Formats: sequence, structure tokens, C-alpha cells
Amino acid sequence: MQRDPSNFDALVIGAGAGGMCAAARLSAHGYRTLLVESLDRIGGRASTRKVGDFLCNTGALIIERDGAVAKTYEDLGLPLDLYVPPRASTVLRVGKKDINVSEGFFGWLRNVAPGILSGITKLIPPLRPKKGQSVSSWIGRFTRNEAVHHLLDNVLGAMFAANAQIFFADVFLHYFSTDTSFKKFGLPPGGTIEVWKPLAKVVTDKGGEIWLNSTVKHLTFAPDGRVSGAVVESNGELKTVSCKVAISNAGPLQTVQLAGEGRFPDGYAQEVRNATHPAAIITVHFASTQPLANFSGLALFSKTRRMVYAANFSAPELQRAPSGWYFYCGASVPHPPCGEFNVEAEQALLIEDLREQFPGFEQARIIAVDVTAHDWPAQRAVSGYDLPRNTPIGNLWNVGDGVKPWAQGGTASCAEVARLVVNDILARYPLHALSKLNTPPPIDDVSALAAKD
Ligand SMILES: Cc1cc2nc3c(=O)[nH]c(=O)nc-3n(C[C@H](O)[C@H](O)[C@H](O)COP(=O)(O)OP(=O)(O)OC[C@H]3O[C@@H](n4cnc5c(N)ncnc54)[C@H](O)[C@@H]3O)c2cc1C
Repeated sequence: MQRDPSNFDALVIGAGAGGMCAAARLSAHGYRTLLVESLDRIGGRASTRKVGDFLCNTGALIIERDGAVAKTYEDLGLPLDLYVPPRASTVLRVGKKDINVSEGFFGWLRNVAPGILSGITKLIPPLRPKKGQSVSSWIGRFTRNEAVHHLLDNVLGAMFAANAQIFFADVFLHYFSTDTSFKKFGLPPGGTIEVWKPLAKVVTDKGGEIWLNSTVKHLTFAPDGRVSGAVVESNGELKTVSCKVAISNAGPLQTVQLAGEGRFPDGYAQEVRNATHPAAIITVHFASTQPLANFSGLALFSKTRRMVYAANFSAPELQRAPSGWYFYCGASVPHPPCGEFNVEAEQALLIEDLREQFPGFEQARIIAVDVTAHDWPAQRAVSGYDLPRNTPIGNLWNVGDGVKPWAQGGTASCAEVARLVVNDILARYPLHALSKLNTPPPIDDVSALAAKD
């Protein structure tokens, strides 16, 4: 019997880091998967776009070599191509001095000190952070030194788009003492979008489909309350598809909207709204015909107005800029990191920092300025504030950085939550049992569903 081409085992909404990892893993397990993405490219906030002759990332720039993205590659038997800067991959700028924190004494300090601190707090319980205590309040018990507090703000800004006032101290201790926490990272040649292309190939090689320029408008439901499919607007046309399980990478808030609030228990939609506090980052991409930095990978800053990190993409291996150009980005976390902020004023502060930290910046060309905030944030949830990945609807899950496992961050956390969701699907909806789930009859009147908009 020929299979209905619009009938899929799994539907994945959104081709961000979480959606890509989930779709590739499901496909590798034999689930015929449809991955639907609104944009004309994969990767979401970990992608790359062309601006003139330069390749600018949409968000993520570095990928952990030992994190969950690498584990996804390993599980799928794929090689992960990352460029590792040859010297001082991370420096900390203190005053005018760049200190190499990727190796040597300071590397040791960065890698080992949090573990020692965590060990001490385990041995001496009164030193432990209290539940819900912020980093600034906890560290404030030991030191009021402004430089220390400023450094913490910038490190938390660079790693989590947060600051020490809102970041939980227990998450901080756990992340820096036990997580891979970006100690080993690389930059994808050709930009971050390249990380997801081999995963996209797994989906299509295994019989799945990827629809770009396509938006899931609504989920549809079987009489027993399970998700049965979706209405998708694809290149201006409305289509219905059916599925047995669905994963949303669109963020928990949009997942509720796609299903309809009435599908969830009383209070659930409000809970999701209350818990949604996306964080922001502003990025300036700039280029110069003269070198503007001595570091080869990432720079963190001990004291700035706003800038928390800068990156150097000039290495020819990265293929990011035309020959003869040195290419960089600098990024800031606005005040406040979550919620409303004055975009113009915050951009101006970042530009002032760039002038100060990059002599010659005045002569550089600004290639693009990105404000990632609100619906297209730096992080859908600051680590520690995440919602659960399961939803009250049995065959509908969330993936992505709004539902990260506790005390994790970045693309690695999105890959990890995708792994956990796929494991759940394998256990609860094994492939051999899927055919026994009734496929609901096709929806005749697509326009009636779309009229819900
Ligand atoms: C400036 C910046 C720098 C960062 N740096 C790093 C870094 O160096 N390393 C790191 O690991 N992480 C970094 N991060 C974090 C990382 O980029 C994000 O955590 C991660 O990319 C989020 O992925 P996600 O799975 O949540 O999906 P998203 O990126 O949110 O993708 C979701 C996708 O779903 C699509 N979509 C939404 N609704 C629909 C719909 N209805 N139908 C179809 N498609 C839909 C969207 O178009 C989008 O493409 C950075 C983030 C920013 C902003």
C-alpha cells in the first residue's frame, strides 16, 4: 500500500538547534519526520546569513567540542567540523591586558576554581547559596569588591545573557563546576548554519522532509485529545499534514498558541506566560582592512559599560570575510537583560565600548547590528528559569532554550533537551506501535481552520 505523503510519524516545528537535533535523531530511529521552518534557512538563532560579502551569525558563534551537540554528532556517526583557534582561544581583558584563560595558570583557575568552591560549600553548609538566592547576593556575603561583581556580571552576560542580580547562585556553582561550560569550543567554518546541515541531510536521507519558508499555523487534534497533525502555510499555500507525535521548537508560549489555550488544563497558559522572561543581546558585526585585535577566538571583558564579549572571525579557515578583511563582532547585554530596554541608548553604549576596546574601530565598517530580544531572544529563559519540556498533551513536547535541563545553556542545552525528548518518544511511542494509533480523517476545510487566525 502506498503511503500518504502528507502522513508523517513526527512533526517538528522549527529548525533551530533543538528542532534540528530532534528531527535528526527521530529520523535516524526510523520515524518519518517533517521539519517545518518559517525562515528560508535552518538553524534559527544559531544560523548564518550573508550581509554583503560577509557571513554574519544570527546568534550562536561557538560550539562546545565536548557538549551535547558533539554527542548528537557522535550518536549519528557524523564528523563535527569545528575550527579551534591555535592560540589563546579565550582571553580576559583586564584594563589593557589580555589574559589567556584557555590554558596555563588562568586556564587552571577558570577550570578548577569553581569545583573547589563548590566542594567547600558542600563541606561548610552555611556557605551554600540559599534556594533562589542570586549570584550577587551570595557573592556579596564574601566580597563587596566592585571589580569582582562587574566581572561576574560580564561573564554571566557572555555565557547566559544575564547578570549577577538575576542569575541563581546554585545554577552558577553547578554550571561552572560540573558542566562542560564552554571550556573546549570551536567555531564552525562557514558560520554556525554549517553545524546543522549534516543533521538536515540525515532527515532527508531517511525519507523525511524539510519545508523552509513554511509556518505551522495550528495544530490539529484527534478526538482523544492527542495532536493529530497541523495546518501549515507553505509558500503561500495552506496544507494539512498528519503526525503521531509533535515537537515544538517555537518556544513554550507559541506552542500554547499553536494548540489553542483551551486544549490545556486551566491555568497552564497563564503559567507559561508568567514564566516567560526572554533575555536580550545586542551584537555589532564589524570589519576592517587593518587587524584590530590580538586574540584569536573569544575575548571577555572585566569592566565595560555594556560589552560582555567580542569574537574574532578573521582566520581564513573560517571563510567568513573576503580576503584582506579582518572580521569581528562585539556583543552587549542590555540593562535590564530581560524585559524592556532603550534600544538606541543601549546600542550607543556598546559602540562606545567598541571604540574604547578596539583602537581603530572608528575606521572599521559596521556590517550589521542585531538586537536579539523578546520574540527572537538571546535565551528564551535564563538558565534556572526554564519550563518543563513535557506538555499536558501526551504526544506534544517542547525543545529549545525555553525548556533547557536545569543549569545548562546555549546550543548544547538545546541538543540535550532534544535527546531527552526523543528518548521519551522512543519509550512511549515506539515506531512499531505507531501504526496502531488511529490516523484521523483528513481535514476537508483547511480555510475554516486558518480562519482561527
Ligand atoms: C547573540 C547570541 C549569541 C549566542 N552565542 C552562543 C554561542 O556562542 N554558543 C551557543 O551554544 N549558544 C549561543 N547562543 C544561544 C543559542 O543561539 C540559542 O540558545 C539556540 O540557538 C536556541 O535554539 P532553539 O532550539 O531554542 O531554537 P531557535 O533558534 O529559537 O529556532 C526556532 C525556529 O523555529 C522557527 N519557528 C518558530 N515558529 C514557527 C512556526 N510556527 N512554524 C515554523 N517555524 C517556526 C523559527 O523561525 C526558528 O528558526 C547565542 C544566542 C544569541 C542570540
